[in-house]
Amino acid sequence: MAQLSPLLKQATPVVVDHGEGVYLYDVDGKRHLDFTAGIGVTSTGHCHPRVVEAAREQIGKLVHGQYTTVMHKPLLELTERLGDVLPAGLDSLFFANSGSEAVEAALRLARQATKRPNVIVFQGGFHGRTVAAASMTTSGTRFSAGISPLMAGVHVAPFPYAYHYGWDQETATKFALRELDYLFQTVSGPNETAAFFIEPVLGEGGYVPGNTEFFAGLRERADRHGILLVMDEVQTGFGRTGKFWGHDHFDVSPDVVLIAKGLASGFPLSGIAASRELMEKALPGSQGGTYGGNAVSCAAAIATLAVIQDEGLVENAAERGRQLLEGARLIADKTPAIGDVRGLGLLVGSEFTTAGGEPDPATAAAAQQAAAKSGLLLLSCGAYSNVVRMVPPLVVTAEQVDDALRIWGDVVASVTG
Ligand code: PMP
Repeated sequence: MAQLSPLLKQATPVVVDHGEGVYLYDVDGKRHLDFTAGIGVTSTGHCHPRVVEAAREQIGKLVHGQYTTVMHKPLLELTERLGDVLPAGLDSLFFANSGSEAVEAALRLARQATKRPNVIVFQGGFHGRTVAAASMTTSGTRFSAGISPLMAGVHVAPFPYAYHYGWDQETATKFALRELDYLFQTVSGPNETAAFFIEPVLGEGGYVPGNTEFFAGLRERADRHGILLVMDEVQTGFGRTGKFWGHDHFDVSPDVVLIAKGLASGFPLSGIAASRELMEKALPGSQGGTYGGNAVSCAAAIATLAVIQDEGLVENAAERGRQLLEGARLIADKTPAIGDVRGLGLLVGSEFTTAGGEPDPATAAAAQQAAAKSGLLLLSCGAYSNVVRMVPPLVVTAEQVDDALRIWGDVVASVTG
């Protein structure tokens, strides 16, 4: 009998039968409050009726069109719809399937368009598991362990992770920008640097929001040196942070935006958006793939965008996010083992530390597992896996947030009490 690879690590023992909205139902009929959203994917909730209907209808018409052979309607319509929500000027799109592929596509674009070899990434950033994306990932060595030699030309600058450094935001930001300038002087000269790849909020790296001053510093250096600012919005896009794009919080204009996860409610679809002028600087025919821009995924994405707009999900993410952050902070106030609670919108992380201020992954794991037993599914993140994250679907209600906070408060008290 075949089995799944033993290398797959599963955060919970749950085997799901079906999902509806914010709930997953397992094969034994137990209901789970899903505050993982499939790692930030099912923003419209599990099996939103409008998304299901759009996908069903499309399946009966065309499943696979193959965009380097023929074009199809859902892909063209989605491209047009995305034009309404993408940052001004980023009107040229390429579609793939996963976040990692979007990262690869942006890397190709950046190197070809600038004719420069290096990229600078920011410590704690996660960009994926393909070898190039893993080479650019610094949220934990587990993502690149044992596969060296990694891709050359990747250099790492600090992210302003104030809590980690034990500093305030301003000090952490000044430090990060000064180190970036030092990196330019010592490791990768600006004219050898094609792009900065950065998440607006470190995701896998521990739910650490960037800030306006830091992004202004990056933008200024990018402009001064002709470096591209590539914003990895794979986890933060499509309303997740309470604004449409994560970078909208920081008043910064990227040159390239990477999209996936929340775009298609769980159907595989990703993409990159840039100006046509930038795309034209890369090599013709350098973008493609067998499955990218799948017709059913595109139909689901069109429905997803409509649901986000019609149900006010960006606003809901902002309001429910505030409720979740405040509630998680109240719990942390009573819990010395939680050193920091932070986030933006419906990305909320609680960082567990020991009495001496060291990362405490054991207590974080105990809390996450106790929550799963109590019907609340959560994930961990952070370089030390000591941050428990809450990333519910954007359709979550005030009552469901209260339910999750009640369970969270109880399990935190029981594992730390
Ligand atoms: N970038 C970011 C910011 C991500 O959060 C992820 C996935 N967690 C990826 C890229 C990679 O996406 P995928 O797993 O679809 O390859």
